[in-house]
Amino acid sequence: MRTIAILGATGSIGTQALDIVRRHPDKFRASCLTAHSASDKLFELVRQFRPDVAALVNEPEAIPEDVRFCQWVFGPDSTVEALKASRAQDALCAIVGIAGLDAVWTALDVCERVLLANKEALVTGGDLVMAKAAEKNIPMLPVDSEHSAIFQCLQARQGNPVKRLLLTCSGGALRNWKKEDIYNATVKDVLAHPTWNMGGKITVDCASMVNKGLEVIEAHHLFGMPAEKIDVVVHPQSIVHSMVEFGDGAVLAQLGNPDMRGPIGYAMGYPERIPYDAKPLDFAALGHLDFAAPDTDRFPALPMAIEALKAGGSAPVVLNGANEAAVGAFLKGQIPFGRIPEIILAALDAIPVTPIMCIADVYEADGKARAYAKERIKI
Ligand code: NDP
Ligand code: MG
Repeated sequence: MRTIAILGATGSIGTQALDIVRRHPDKFRASCLTAHSASDKLFELVRQFRPDVAALVNEPEAIPEDVRFCQWVFGPDSTVEALKASRAQDALCAIVGIAGLDAVWTALDVCERVLLANKEALVTGGDLVMAKAAEKNIPMLPVDSEHSAIFQCLQARQGNPVKRLLLTCSGGALRNWKKEDIYNATVKDVLAHPTWNMGGKITVDCASMVNKGLEVIEAHHLFGMPAEKIDVVVHPQSIVHSMVEFGDGAVLAQLGNPDMRGPIGYAMGYPERIPYDAKPLDFAALGHLDFAAPDTDRFPALPMAIEALKAGGSAPVVLNGANEAAVGAFLKGQIPFGRIPEIILAALDAIPVTPIMCIADVYEADGKARAYAKERIKI
């Protein structure tokens, strides 16, 4: 039996992790549940899972009588306070955006293992986070499906050299759209992801291919591979979740129907595989699997992210901060979709690269990127 803190419990990853907890009460207990402002949803989860501690960033007007049995924490630091108070063995970091970095950082101090969905924490603070994890000998178990696939393929490594990581990519909702149409894609168009059902921000990132750029940076940190050895392959069916090429040319892949409970459960149960009601893969029904090179002309954000990784220092933080600001503005109808990569590129050009030596440096670079992006959004 392991205790697990689910940070971002009301979200897409959080609720699917709780589905695994529900199916395996003998293996897991959710001792801490946190959210930002979805209080009614969190109250319902607290009723069902009976954690020791719960947290909301936005304090609700009232706490219903029947959820007062657990300790409640509110306010901007509530996630990390709740995590510390819960004494959970594992932390599933499933907050969206750089807002999750503090939680990942704290989890490395107070937990035995970090189960990482929050890719932005590695994109922005990757060198610092991975160094701290290594120093404290805390496993960072990937939840992102591509990284989980690579992690699973690497189990067969047996000390052999890895030649290349191949990250697969569905191509997002606009995969087949013409360049001129992509610019004015609506929120509805962009949120209609063909294969995965996820939170709003990551779905927008998939459509712009920023998500795949963030994932290249995430893979660099998790697996210690340089940008040159991480390739992206468009694979519209999302059946091959990613691949590893070894020194002898052999390529190992991990396959399955697109269902995030696979990678979430793998991280939760590692090294044990945790069953859920996974739909069996029917190869005959699938018939074929397709692969293609990414189109960087229609989706320029992908090469921008790879360049930011190569530039190092604050560049990936600026890329992420500008993207978070631009995605927020797009979802509010303030800018057309096509301005997202334009704003990222402008921020990367305008803000000089500085070294990242500590977490405060991350927040400083993030602040500059957001302030810059905010000005561009007004134009
Ligand atoms: P959602 O938007 O569905 O959920 C986000 C969760 O974080 C919610 O519980 C939300 O609370 C909480 N939250 C949001 N902002 C804050 C904040 N500032 N402080 C504290 N809590 C906050 O996101 P997803 O579940 O889709 O994604 C979570 C992370 O996992 C992202 O980094 C994403 O890239 C990554 N990921 C997601 C995948 C997916 O399938 N969804 C796949 C691979 C990676 P509230 O509900 O109250 O707003
Ligand atoms: Mg992914």
